[in-house]
Amino acid sequence: MTIELKPVEATPAVLPILSHWIDGRPVEVLPEATGPVFNPATGEVIARVPRGGAPEVDAAVAAAKRAFPAWRDMPLIARSEIFFAFRERMWQHREELAKLITRDHGKTYPDALTEVLRGLETVEYACGLPSLLAGLNTPSVSTNVDAHTLRQPLGVVAGITPFNFPVMVPTWIYPIALMAGNTFILKPSSHTPGATQLQAELWKEAGLPDGVFNIVYGGREAVDAILVHPDITAIQFVGSTAVGQHVFDTGTQHGKRVTAFTSAKNAMVVLPDADLELAADAAVASGYGSAGERCMAQTLLLAVGDTGDRIRPLIEERIGHLRIGPGMDPGVDMGPIYATEHRDSIIHWIEVGEGEGAELVVDGRPFVQPEHPDGFFLGVTLFDHVTPTMQIFNEEIFGPVLGMVRVATYDEALALINGHQYANGTAIFTTDGGAARRFELEVDVPMIGINVPIPVPVGYLSFGGARKSAIGDLQMRGEDSIRFFTKQKLVTVRWPEPGRRPGLSLVFPSNR
Ligand code: NAD
Repeated sequence: MTIELKPVEATPAVLPILSHWIDGRPVEVLPEATGPVFNPATGEVIARVPRGGAPEVDAAVAAAKRAFPAWRDMPLIARSEIFFAFRERMWQHREELAKLITRDHGKTYPDALTEVLRGLETVEYACGLPSLLAGLNTPSVSTNVDAHTLRQPLGVVAGITPFNFPVMVPTWIYPIALMAGNTFILKPSSHTPGATQLQAELWKEAGLPDGVFNIVYGGREAVDAILVHPDITAIQFVGSTAVGQHVFDTGTQHGKRVTAFTSAKNAMVVLPDADLELAADAAVASGYGSAGERCMAQTLLLAVGDTGDRIRPLIEERIGHLRIGPGMDPGVDMGPIYATEHRDSIIHWIEVGEGEGAELVVDGRPFVQPEHPDGFFLGVTLFDHVTPTMQIFNEEIFGPVLGMVRVATYDEALALINGHQYANGTAIFTTDGGAARRFELEVDVPMIGINVPIPVPVGYLSFGGARKSAIGDLQMRGEDSIRFFTKQKLVTVRWPEPGRRPGLSLVFPSNR
């Protein structure tokens, strides 16, 4: 059974209706229980996506619970083979996945393709599951006593994901949960459902048993049903801080393990000795790539000393060459904003910045893309002389708005970063190795780029922020996710020598 994923150029009567994916198949959804999916480049409704709630979550959890014992007990090599088969299919379908991302989200096709490849990194990491799940074994911890650890799956676990990376963020979460032997409920964003749905089909083709991977669409109702469901043991969330806090509070109150990876406002420092051409490229690529809808975008530029006067014309020149248009058009640098409400919110923040007295160097409003006047387009905005008391310094805008802040010294820049409410990623641009090393040691942000503007670690390493950019203790992906999605057992084993017993003693064993 397959789901019609292709966009249709037809009347709303024949719009494809996406379905929840439960127990290895799409489930029937009534049209009145759905909401629209837009193509932000044209403003057209291209599909309908279900609005699920407790009944769908209950059905998905029941399927996942049924599938759990056999999946947990499947020999590791057999589980690994399914992962390799999925990896092959994800690679073969990378262009189709990327087209669906561009269609639903609006980001450019090359950017969407990279998103798929960055998600693939974590799938490839999970293919090594037989060695990743190995425990520790310590012989002779006492006379005739050995110790070892076991990592076992938790059961049914869930992931709740945002609109901006419909392939990469889910594949940062569920492959590790699945490879560890859990069964999974994904609650993706309803704004960008096409590529999510295709992932379910590819798992099915790869041989994943029914019920191991399930998708339930919906908003707060579906999320709340997940947060209180007694059979869900752990949840990884990626999205805004407000929703993440709700997910963390409610989920943990209901006895679940929860980590939430949340909003961001990242700053790059440019020192006077930096290669300013490199730094200007980085600022424009990071600030405006994917229309600023990346949690690792550097949307504040902290210009040290006279750097501001020297780098600003380089940034303005680059902005002048940016092509804004539909993400599938060759040569386009930036696509539309993913939703009209979000475009309104970005416009609101530009007004706030103006009102606060920041210098509006380039104004992205109003912007009409001539071939697609109904698309959700916006131009790019550059503010200068942003100050730390301004809301546009402190709040996440999540749009193509870059703010320059003038600071006198490196220490001033460092203090602004370390004092910010958000701490996801940061970067420094310099040719001085000593300054870069100092920054690496002193900056209180977990993901750092040295002359790298979007320092998203490779898929084999962990990822995660601090302060209001993450709620919970562990990072996601890598070893941290293996810990998150498993429970550890510690086993102490005695095999006495034949005919010799330690004898009765009420003393606490000392092992010496
Ligand atoms: P969002 O918080 O609106 O949505 C995230 C998920 O929560 C979605 O599945 C959504 O359907 C659900 N949701 C939305 N409102 C809800 C509510 N009231 N109650 C329960 N569930 C709700 O986030 P978004 O707009 O999809 O994504 C953008 C945000 O995600 C930005 O803040 C961005 O910084 C953040 N983000 C963070 C990371 C990270 O790794 N830290 C990565 C990507 C995006």
